[in-house]
Amino acid sequence: MSDYQAPLKEMQFVINELASLDKIASLPGFEEATPDTVEAILEQAAVLANEVFSPINQSGDEAGTRIENAAVVSPDGFADAYKQFVENGWQSISQSPDFGGQGLPYLVHSAVAEMWSSSNIALALCPLLTSGAIEAISQHASAEIQSRYLEKMVSGEWSGTMNLTEPQAGTDLAAVKTRAVPEQDYYRITGQKIFITWGEHEMSQNIAHLVLARLPDAPEGVKGISLFVVPKYLVNEDGTLGERNDLKVVSLESKLGIHASPTCVMSYGDAGGAIGYLVGQENNGLACMFTMMNHARLEVGMQGVGLSERAYQRALAYAQERVQGNTHGHKGKVTIIHHADVRRMLMQMRALAEASRALAYVAACEYDLAHRSEDDSEKARHQRRIDLLTPVAKAWSTEMSQEVTTLGVQVHGGMGFIEETGAAQYMRDARILTIYEGTTGIQAMDLIGRKLLRDKGMAMAELLSDLNSFNLELDSANEELKTVASHFGTALKVLQQVTDWFLEAAADDDPDLAGSIAVNYLMLTGNVVCAWLMGKAAIAARQHLDAGADDIFYRNKISTAIFFADHILPRSIGLGDTILTGSNSVMSIDVESFK
Ligand SMILES: Cc1cc2nc3c(=O)[nH]c(=O)nc-3n(C[C@H](O)[C@H](O)[C@H](O)COP(=O)(O)OP(=O)(O)OC[C@H]3O[C@@H](n4cnc5c(N)ncnc54)[C@H](O)[C@@H]3O)c2cc1C
Repeated sequence: MSDYQAPLKEMQFVINELASLDKIASLPGFEEATPDTVEAILEQAAVLANEVFSPINQSGDEAGTRIENAAVVSPDGFADAYKQFVENGWQSISQSPDFGGQGLPYLVHSAVAEMWSSSNIALALCPLLTSGAIEAISQHASAEIQSRYLEKMVSGEWSGTMNLTEPQAGTDLAAVKTRAVPEQDYYRITGQKIFITWGEHEMSQNIAHLVLARLPDAPEGVKGISLFVVPKYLVNEDGTLGERNDLKVVSLESKLGIHASPTCVMSYGDAGGAIGYLVGQENNGLACMFTMMNHARLEVGMQGVGLSERAYQRALAYAQERVQGNTHGHKGKVTIIHHADVRRMLMQMRALAEASRALAYVAACEYDLAHRSEDDSEKARHQRRIDLLTPVAKAWSTEMSQEVTTLGVQVHGGMGFIEETGAAQYMRDARILTIYEGTTGIQAMDLIGRKLLRDKGMAMAELLSDLNSFNLELDSANEELKTVASHFGTALKVLQQVTDWFLEAAADDDPDLAGSIAVNYLMLTGNVVCAWLMGKAAIAARQHLDAGADDIFYRNKISTAIFFADHILPRSIGLGDTILTGSNSVMSIDVESFK
C-alpha cells in the first residue's frame, strides 16, 4: 500500500482560486484547459503517482544505483515505472504540438510534476532534466537539431541531461574547461563533467546530453562558453540510432539522499572526442544555459513542494496512530496528535507546504501568461513578475522543505531517526534542493541583483502595489481574518522599508552589502508573498462556505492561513531588522582572523 495520496482537492483549489486557470484557459491555444479537463488529468496522474511511483520510492532509496558492464543499473521497478510514464504521455503534457506534445499550460504540467516529486523524487528527476533540455533545444537549436531530437524527447523515449558542472566549475561556470573543437558540421567534445543527474541509464533508448564547453579560441570567462547537444547514440539522418558516441559514465557518487537517482561522473572523448552539435551561437552558451536553468529552477521549487507534502502526510498518519501520554479532557492514553506541541508541528508543516504550493502554482501561471498573453505590455508585465518570482519560488520553497521534512522526523520521535518510517528519507532527499540549480545564496543574489537593482525596483514595485491592494482588501475582510490583516500589514511595511532602504543604500560604496543581506531579503519576500496567497486562499474559502459549502476543507484552509500569519509571517520582522544592519557584523571578522 502506498503511503502517499496526491492532495487532489487542494491542488484543484490552488489551480482555480489562486493560479487563475480561467485566465489561462482564455489564452490562445489553451482553450482546452477547462477545470473539468484539468481535474481529469490530475486524477489520472494521481493513479500513476500513488500506485506506481510511490510504492518503489523507499525500496529505490535502499537499493540505490550501481554500474555493471559500463551501464547504470536502476533500482527494481524504475524502468517499468518510467515506461508507464512515457506510454501515458506524461513527458509531453505541456510540450509543443509541433513535436508531438499535448500543448497544455505549464501550470497543469507543474501540478502533475508535484505528484511525481512527492511520490518518487529520484525517478522524477529524469523527466525533469529532459524537460529542461527540451526547452533549451526548442528555444536555441537549429531546425535540423530540433527535427532530429525533439519528437523523441517530447515523447520521453529519449531523455536529456544538463552537463554544466566540472570539478573546478560549480557555481563559477566561467571556469568550465571541457573543449569543443570544430570538425565538419559537428564538434569534437573532450572533458570531464561531474554530478550529472541521470547521466547514464537504460530506461530510455537514447540520452541527449546538453554540454557546456569551450572552443579553442574562445574568450575567457562566461563569454566563451558554448552549448552542445551530445547524444549517447549518434542519430542517423532518418532519425534511427547509429553508433555509440565517445562518452561514458566513469563512476557514481555515493551521497546523502536521492539514492535512486544516479549522480554520474561523465567522461567525454576518451577515444578521440565525442561528437556534439552546437545549440545556439558559438560563445553564447550562457544564454541557452539560462533557459535551461530558469526552467529547472521552477521545477526544483516544485520538488520542495512535493517533499513537504509527502513529509506532512507521513507525519500526520504517524501522529494519528502513535499512542503516548495523557492530555486534558481524555480518559487514558491518547494518540500524539492530541498534544498541542505535536499539533503545532503539524500546522507548521501543512502551512509551509500549502504556502509553497501556492507560490509555485502562481509562478507557473505567470509563466503561461508571460508566454501567451496577446497584449505586449501584459506579456512584459508577466515576464517581469515571473523573473522576480523564479528565485523566490526556487529558494523559499526548498529552504522551507528543510524545515518541513525535519519537523516530519521530529513528529515521529525516535522512529523518525529510523529509516523504516520513511521520514528520514524525505529529509535526506530534500537536502540537495537548496544546493543544485544554484544554491539559495545564488538565487538570492539573482533576486537582489538582476531582478531588483537592474530594473531599479520596477518589478518589485509592481508586486508591492498588488500586495498593498490586498492589504486594503484584508481590512474589509471577515472578522476571522483580523489577525491575518494585522500581521500582513506589519510584514508588508517591513518589506517596503527594506526594499526602499536597499535601493538607496546600494548606491553607497559597500561591495559586501548585497551579499550580506540577499538571503534574508529573499526569505522576507517569500514570507510576504506567501502570506498574500494564503490570505487570498482564506478569502476564497470563506466565499465557498458563505455560498453554502459544508466542507471541512474550506474551514481548514482558513485555519491554516491564520496559522501562517500568526506563526510564520512574524519572522519577517526579525529578517527586516537583520537586513537593516547591512554587512556590519557579517564582515566583522576578516578572512585571516577566522580561527
Ligand atoms: C546530487 C547532485 C546532483 C547534481 N546534478 C547536476 C546536474 O545534473 N548537472 C550539473 O551540471 N550539475 C549538477 N549538480 C551540481 C550542482 O549544480 C552544484 O553542486 C551547485 O551548483 C553548487 O556548485 P558546487 O558544488 O561547486 O559548490 P560551490 O560553487 O563550491 O559553492 C560552495 C558554497 O559557496 C557559495 N558560493 C560559491 N560561489 C559564490 C559566489 N560567487 N557568491 C556567493 N556564494 C558563493 C555557494 O552558495 C555554496 O554555499 C548536482 C549536484 C549534486 C550534489
